[in-house]
Formats: sequence, structure tokens, C-alpha cells
Amino acid sequence: MNQTQNVYSEFPLLSCFLLFTYGVINHIKTLNLSTVLRMRNSTIANLNGVFVQIQSNIEAGRRKIAISREVVKCETLKSSENGVKQAEKPAYSDIIIVGAGVAGSALAYTLGKDGRRVHVIERDLTEPDRIVGELLQPGGYLKLMELGLQDCVEDIDAQQVFGYALYKGGRSTKLSYPLEGLDSNVCGRSFHNGRFIQRMREKAASLPNVRLEEGTVTSLLEVKGTIKGVQYKTRTGQELTACAPLTIVCDGCFSNLRRSLCNPKVDIPSCFVALILENCELPYPNHGHVILADPSPILFYRISSLEIRCLVDIPACHQMPSISNGEMTNYLKSKVAPQIPPELFDAFISAINKGNIRTMPNRSMPAAPHPTPGALLLGDAFNMRHPLTGGGMTVALSDIVVLRNLLRPLCDFSDAKALCEYLKSFYTLRKPVASTINTLAGALYKVFSTSHDPAQKEMREACFDYLSLGGVFSNGPIALLSGLNPRPLNLVIHFFAVAIYGVGRLIFPLPSAKRMWMGARMISVALGIIFPIIRDEGAQQMFFPRTIPAFCRSLVV
Ligand SMILES: Cc1cc2nc3c(=O)[nH]c(=O)nc-3n(C[C@H](O)[C@H](O)[C@H](O)COP(=O)(O)OP(=O)(O)OC[C@H]3O[C@@H](n4cnc5c(N)ncnc54)[C@H](O)[C@@H]3O)c2cc1C
Repeated sequence: MNQTQNVYSEFPLLSCFLLFTYGVINHIKTLNLSTVLRMRNSTIANLNGVFVQIQSNIEAGRRKIAISREVVKCETLKSSENGVKQAEKPAYSDIIIVGAGVAGSALAYTLGKDGRRVHVIERDLTEPDRIVGELLQPGGYLKLMELGLQDCVEDIDAQQVFGYALYKGGRSTKLSYPLEGLDSNVCGRSFHNGRFIQRMREKAASLPNVRLEEGTVTSLLEVKGTIKGVQYKTRTGQELTACAPLTIVCDGCFSNLRRSLCNPKVDIPSCFVALILENCELPYPNHGHVILADPSPILFYRISSLEIRCLVDIPACHQMPSISNGEMTNYLKSKVAPQIPPELFDAFISAINKGNIRTMPNRSMPAAPHPTPGALLLGDAFNMRHPLTGGGMTVALSDIVVLRNLLRPLCDFSDAKALCEYLKSFYTLRKPVASTINTLAGALYKVFSTSHDPAQKEMREACFDYLSLGGVFSNGPIALLSGLNPRPLNLVIHFFAVAIYGVGRLIFPLPSAKRMWMGARMISVALGIIFPIIRDEGAQQMFFPRTIPAFCRSLVV
């Protein structure tokens, strides 16, 4: 590495200044692009290197911890006390998993493969038909490979995804995932969520030590502050109790069980209206399409060789048109259709006329766990972000890798308090990846939505133009979004680089007091968007995980 590169990597302000200058000069179109791009590549690459390799620390920190084996005494919780019976097959389980969706089924397979006796209780074992979790980012696919589950996207007519196409006001730009140097299989995948889940369930259930049962968990069994298992109702209405030293709750975004395990602050910033388009091709094949529409983004991506999913975002501050009285059809035809690419117009109108319109609220919820002996939350029950960037499954799978690595050295989980203390590090170890994806989703949703504030409008314009520059300007953000390089510092750098680039565009070549004021307002808008999200995510855990005692403990036990 030469000296010049070192200077850029050690002085982020200098890097920002350079980006600013570039924004200015690019705007008046006089700069030699290739020279600056070379310089920028090295700057960002070096800044990447500054961030700690959390995952490798997990590996380094794996130690056997001796927790004495003591079989949980389920008998003490039997029918007489609770008015419920034990499960018919009271085989001892190490772990109960509530919910076999994306997180629960992947976790069941992972822990089962590690030799744990796993009891999964899922409300409905038939193939789900949902509009969620249909695009797995390449970072999520890498996690799937790490868990040995990559074959679950095979034979389900899953489509390869190589990046995104971004549309704004009739212009479009292609943002490719930076997949160079990765295995040729690695890319995003889009599919029917239910088919993917069914494959993972089958794979988990194929392990002799994983028991997948249909039933609805009604409550957690708590004895003196420790969760000892669950109470659940079978399909036939039988009420049963299942016990295990560790219960992992993965009951999804509508979780009824998370209340005692976390402080759920659920926000619903918008709703998705979903349609399926048939008999048409995407303008950019094998790419997700994001239209920066009014009032907020519209998404298109293929979910099978014959179908394209369309998700139209409707912000919470807008009245949701009613489907039943035809308002929705009218809204989609008059307000949305004119904003979509012409290639998709006819299929969009046909999909509306077909009438299969579905809606789903978009939730976000920062992780705010109450560490509880004997229990843990995972997946959407634990943490949610706006689905605009399709990051939910990647976060869930990444969390499973972190948790698996933490649990692997443990012989058994019977000392619930010691285990709970030990697992506190999970909340910190997961943070850099999860928070980066969460923060980006929240921030991009705000930037990509229209606003009455002219400074925010400028920010949206600047963001589109910044991403259109290509090179490191699109590679950096798309690497964050795809989960291929989810580093908090990179996120902050790119976010402010957009704002600074926008200011540069505004005030040159003819700076005026009005333009400078607008530039200052843009910076303030950028701060106002990103800081509240980072605060909710937990700035210390996100940027300085090594300063958290639980993180350090996970390295020494
Ligand atoms: C509109 C929308 C679109 C999205 N699109 C994407 C995307 O493209 N890419 C992406 O990565 N993420 C996306 N997400 C997020 C993604 O769907 C979630 O992050 C992911 O599904 C979380 O998995 P999970 O296992 O926690 O929950 P789920 O997959 O919802 O699974 C929960 C399971 O628990 C079961 N269950 C619930 N209660 C009980 C109970 N009491 N007893 C027993 N079982 C129970 C349910 O039946 C279900 O099977 C989207 C989200 C939304 C809202």
C-alpha cells in the first residue's frame, strides 16, 4: 500500500473533502474521472480495513465452557400444576424452537446438524403463501452456504439476481452486485417464500434429532424467572407442554410471545400493496427494479420463471385506499401505473384487473432484548427493518451463524443463568451486520420517498446521481445493501458522501446565499435521517462492539 493511500484511509475528513470536490467537479464536467475513481477506490478500500472483523473474532473466541449437565425436570411442570399434558413423545430436547419460518427452520437444521435435540413447534406446516421474504440478497445466500442450506433455493424455480435497476423521472441506472472473486453460484435469489421455507423445513425434519410438530404455542413456561419451555395447542386442540433448557422464539413479525423477552417498539412506516405480473420481461433481466416514485418506491423482481412480484409502497401518512370498494384499483391505475417503466405497463394493468391485490404492513423494530434465562428471540420477532432493501432474511441467517458459533462449544444448556449471561454477547456480535442492514433500509426508505422539504428532494436527486456515477459510488452502497460488505463505517461514509456530493452540485459553479443555505439544510436533513436510526440501533454496539463487556467476555470464556 503506498503512502498516498494511507493518508486517505487515516483521514476520513480528507476523504469526504475529496468526495465533495469530486461532486463539484463532476457537476461541471471537467475532471478526469478515471484518476479520481482510482483514488476513491483505494480510499474506501482502506477505510473498510479499519473496521474490526467481528466474525473472525467469534472463531478466535470459541472456547469450551463448562456448564454442568443437569437434565431439566419437566416432571415438575406436568399436568397437575398447569392443567396441561406432556407431549406424547416426551423425548428430551436441548432446544425448543417456536415457529418454522425462515429463521426457525434454518435454525432447526443448523442446531440439529450440530447434534442438538431440537423440537420445533410450528403453527401451520403447509406451504405458506405470502408476499414477504421473496428476495434473498447475495450476503444472505453466503450465510445459507455457511449453514449448508444453499440447496434449499434449488428446484423451486428460484431466479438469480445480479443487482438492481434504479429508475427516477424516466432515467435509469444499473447497480450490479460486486460479486467478483466469489464462487460462481453466489448471487441474489428470488423465489416464492413458501417454497423456500418448505425446502428448509424438509431439510430440518430429515435429521433424526429434529422433531417438527404442528401446534400453536400459546405461552412460555416461566418458573422463577427462567423459561423452562412452552405450552402449546396441537391441531386437534390438545393442550401440551414441552420443556427444554433453551427456548428460541422465532414466531415472526406478529409475535405474541416476544413481549416478556424484549421491549418491542414497533413502527409501521408504510404498507406494501402486492401484485403478480405475468407474461412480461423486466427491462433489466435478473435485476430487482426500484422506481423512485411519488409518494414512495415501487419494486419489481422476478419470483419464478413466469411471475414478477410488484410491491407498491404506500406511506403510513397516506390514506390506504380500500380494496373492497375499488379505491385501490383506481389508485393503482391512475396514480401508480403512469410512473412505472413502459415495458411493464400492460402487465401491470392486467394484474390489477385480475384482482389479486394483497397488502402487508411494513414494520420496523430495533432489537431491544431483555436477556432472560432459558429463552432467546430471533428473526422478525426480535428485530425488523423496512423491507425496501430486502434485508430481513439476510439478518436472520447472519444471526443464526453468530448464534451457532456461540453455542457450538457448549456441552449442554442446563445452567440457564450462566447460558443467559454467556449469550449476552450475541446481541453485540450480531450488531455490526444487523445494524448496517437495518440502518440502510430505514435511511434509504426516507431518502427514496418524496417530501415537501426541498432539501430532502435535493437529497433524493443527489442519491440517484451519486449511485449513477458507478464504480465505487455504486459498488460501496450496493455491497452494503446486498449484505456482501455490511460495515457500519462504510454506511456512514457513503451516506454523508451523498449529502456532500449533493452540496457540491448545489453550490457550484454559481454559489449563492440561497444555494449555500439549501446545502446546509441538506446536511441537516442527512443528519436528521441517519442519527435517530443509529441511536435506536445502539451506536456503541454498532461502531465500538469491542467496548461492550459481553463482547469481550465471549472472547475469553
Ligand atoms: C412485505 C414484506 C416484504 C419482505 N420482503 C423481503 C425480501 O424480499 N427479502 C428479505 O430478506 N426479507 C423480506 N422481508 C422480511 C422477511 O420476510 C422476514 O425478515 C423473515 O420472513 C423473518 O423470518 P422469521 O422466521 O422471523 O418469520 P416468519 O418467516 O414470518 O416465520 C414465523 C413463523 O412462526 C410461525 N408462528 C407464529 N406464531 C406462532 C405460534 N404462536 N406458534 C407456533 N408457530 C408460530 C408462523 O406460522 C411462521 O411460520 C419482507 C417483509 C415484509 C413485511
